[in-house]
Amino acid sequence: LRRVPLLIAGGGPAGAAAAIMLAGAGQHPELIERTEGAHDVVCGGFLGWDALTALRKLGIDPAALGARPIRRLRLAGRRHAFERALPQAAAGLSRRTLDEALLARAAAAGAEVRRGIAIRSVEGGLVRTGDEEIQAEALFLATGKHELRGAARSLVGARKDLAVGLRTSFALAAAAAAAADLDGVIELHPFDGGYAGLLLQEDGRVNLCMSVASARLRQAGGIAPLMAALAAEAPLLGARLPEAGEEPWLSISNVPYGWRARTGERGIYRLGDQAAVIASLAGDGIAIALASGMAAARAYLAGQSGVDYQRGFAARAGRPLAVAQALRWAAEHRGSRGIMLGLARAAPGLARMAARLTRIDA
Ligand SMILES: Cc1cc2nc3c(=O)[nH]c(=O)nc-3n(C[C@H](O)[C@H](O)[C@H](O)COP(=O)(O)OP(=O)(O)OC[C@H]3O[C@@H](n4cnc5c(N)ncnc54)[C@H](O)[C@@H]3O)c2cc1C
Repeated sequence: LRRVPLLIAGGGPAGAAAAIMLAGAGQHPELIERTEGAHDVVCGGFLGWDALTALRKLGIDPAALGARPIRRLRLAGRRHAFERALPQAAAGLSRRTLDEALLARAAAAGAEVRRGIAIRSVEGGLVRTGDEEIQAEALFLATGKHELRGAARSLVGARKDLAVGLRTSFALAAAAAAAADLDGVIELHPFDGGYAGLLLQEDGRVNLCMSVASARLRQAGGIAPLMAALAAEAPLLGARLPEAGEEPWLSISNVPYGWRARTGERGIYRLGDQAAVIASLAGDGIAIALASGMAAARAYLAGQSGVDYQRGFAARAGRPLAVAQALRWAAEHRGSRGIMLGLARAAPGLARMAARLTRIDA
């Protein structure tokens, strides 16, 4: 049995943010991440202005990583699309690049980053990997959508409404890229039971991410038949989908949008998707992950217990999660979707207000 003061389980944006803050304050956190190196993640890669501010506070310059500025939201109906200016500049960046930069920054700040190790289970502050038991005085749970045996999120209530996340990326030929006109834009295609989001990432490829109600994907009988059905139902979206089988899809199931950890335990701090899961349509999950990692580190440094931190963060995440849930519901149902798109087209201020109210720090 090895004893450590601070252990961070998971090295996505939430775990890395906590590691950077704790190490920057002179602590020596240990971070365990199961991937060995750079990897793709099911994520749209949209960084809102709150995420950009948090990254700069953590010593990361998104522009230096190649993040592409995004100033407009394009909302696509079945056949027509329109654009609205975002309240502030956002950006598009792949998670492959972002997560590596955050972990490198954590290591440079003095955190011990251990990769290629999967945590098997957790019991209070006792963490078991394949070949080690580690007792942590304070444990930061940051494994995202992946549950740890012994510390799984209690998803009662969220179970009936779970979604599947899908992500691929593809290259556009130069002419098609010009026609696609994705420069400076986050493009959203809401459909029955989900939405698709597209943006250009730093390498010039298109990041295509989707969220689909689990029931709809099941009924379609798989990803390929779902894409065929979507192409028939929404021609504008159909024109954006890669040829079937052209690019591999990553997927993640059982995404509990709207869930948050309302209570905590002494010595345990839940971060990121382990603390609060915002509907991905809002594009604020990374900002919430960074904000929670920073808030938990600050709470620990100030001697605040996991119980108080968790209650405080749940309250802070309440508004963005609730607004995002309402938008998601309206976007995923045919009747309300038409009204929502009509309102956003008629009153430009409404789309901007929705974008603002879904930020963790509006
Ligand atoms: C379809 C979809 C699209 C999205 N698009 C956007 C978007 O455009 N913008 C945005 O801001 N948010 C978006 N999100 C949300 C965003 O991806 C998440 O909120 C964010 O990744 C949460 O960060 P995290 O650090 O909590 O978890 P994660 O990013 O999931 O990181 C968790 C880390 O823990 C590691 N891990 C897991 N289990 C173990 C284990 N047992 N042992 C060791 N390590 C482990 C994983 O390898 C991973 O590196 C989207 C979500 C979905 C589902």
